[in-house]
Amino acid sequence: MKYDYDVIAIGAGSGGLSVVERAAEYGKKCAVVEAKKLGGTCVNIGCVPKKVMWFGAHIAEAIRDASSFGFDVEQKGFDWAKLVKNREQYISNITTWYEGYMRDKGVDVLEGWGSFVDQHTVSVDGKTYTAETIVIAPGGIPLIPLETENAELGLSSDGFFELTEQPKKVAVIGSGYIAVELAGVFQALGTDTTLISRKDLVLRGFDDMIRENLTNAMLESGCKKEYHFSVKKLERQADGTLTLYSTDGQSISGFDQVVWAVGRQTLVEPLALDKVGLTANSNGFIEVDDCHKTAVDNIYAIGDVTGQPQLTPVAIRAGRFLAERLYNNKPDLKLDLSAVPTVIFSHPPVGTIGLAEHDARKQYGSDNVKVYTSVFTPMRYAFTEHQIKTALKLVVMGEDEKVVGIHIVGDGADEMLQGFAVAVQMGATKADLDATIAIHPSSSEELVTMR
Ligand SMILES: Cc1cc2nc3c(=O)[nH]c(=O)nc-3n(C[C@H](O)[C@H](O)[C@H](O)COP(=O)(O)OP(=O)(O)OC[C@H]3O[C@@H](n4cnc5c(N)ncnc54)[C@H](O)[C@@H]3O)c2cc1C
Repeated sequence: MKYDYDVIAIGAGSGGLSVVERAAEYGKKCAVVEAKKLGGTCVNIGCVPKKVMWFGAHIAEAIRDASSFGFDVEQKGFDWAKLVKNREQYISNITTWYEGYMRDKGVDVLEGWGSFVDQHTVSVDGKTYTAETIVIAPGGIPLIPLETENAELGLSSDGFFELTEQPKKVAVIGSGYIAVELAGVFQALGTDTTLISRKDLVLRGFDDMIRENLTNAMLESGCKKEYHFSVKKLERQADGTLTLYSTDGQSISGFDQVVWAVGRQTLVEPLALDKVGLTANSNGFIEVDDCHKTAVDNIYAIGDVTGQPQLTPVAIRAGRFLAERLYNNKPDLKLDLSAVPTVIFSHPPVGTIGLAEHDARKQYGSDNVKVYTSVFTPMRYAFTEHQIKTALKLVVMGEDEKVVGIHIVGDGADEMLQGFAVAVQMGATKADLDATIAIHPSSSEELVTMR
């Protein structure tokens, strides 16, 4: 049977673009369906704009500390709108570049919502297209807890990126990575920021060392925190500000913006999965085997929709490997998710790979696990008023002390981790780290000199 395309990807985000890009390189006829903007979450409302804001916040911190290094500078103001305008121009350049890139690769971009008609046919805003292989890559959207009264008065992370004016006072609800990243940006750029969560510590599931040190660093930077506050209701006051009420009768008020950062959900409804006999599981994920194949033979799923780590490089690699398996005769190329490095662009940033200490003890038995830790004030803060500590932890296992986890919170963690991730991926032991000559003076040298 002749199809319009060899492969159609539904969703032009990190996953969808990477599979069609690689398949096109192998001479396949490809199309990608996109309802919003090329580049998906990462480029438009995720990693990229978030990192731009993080850089802005970083510069504010440098100005704050500049006088200790002899500079006679004063922060006379900060133009949020200008930063947002420059950021959006940068993103628009990226999406324009993608348009040309897809054109050059011969990939058709089908604009509109894609949904299944049958296992080889996709409808895009009423027009149908057939393909031998269909890849589902729709990503997700922010979760807004609609059971909360007036929840819609709060913004999602998407709404955060739409803000063209800097709020004076903001509440960020949540304690996951997006919550701490957005709260860090607001706080460093001068917004009075309160992080609202049910838990004492941020970043549930991460190593305790990360959780404690980041929570403390955020509080020391001036970010306020309301613990054990489970939001029941939002209310707009006559002066335009928002008040939050908790399930146990507390209230806090005076916010000009409230941001929900309580998780994400997959975007499967528009796909009409029932037309091909697929369903999402109870968490909203589409289940796949280790080749990213769904329960339907010619339909694959990649990226956030699969429940695999919700990170751009994971989605990209899934897409590329899928194309390699299908079109470049590499059937054994599988995604290895045993050690996925992750960075959280908080203030200070967090870098982590492998097992948290508590998980390692559970997995290997407490007696087989040893940790090495170090907490210090990096030279950058040696004589500044604001001092931000760096904390490091190595989790090692067995007699040969194989490194099964590295956890870093502190300036430079974001750039430090990638190289150490290579070592972990290669099965490095503590002795391998010890055998490595340190780079001095640096924070990362602590990772090869721990005793
Ligand atoms: C605030 C934020 C910060 C983040 N920061 C980082 C970070 O620093 N590092 C990192 O690695 N990851 C980060 N992520 C996660 C990263 O963005 C995702 O893991 C990644 O984008 C997932 O790629 P994907 O291809 O699965 O989906 P997406 O990138 O979400 O792309 C899916 C695309 O499909 C489109 N779509 C959905 N359904 C349909 C349909 N039926 N028809 C047509 N089009 C459809 C959507 O419009 C979207 O463009 C962040 C995410 C957020 C929200």
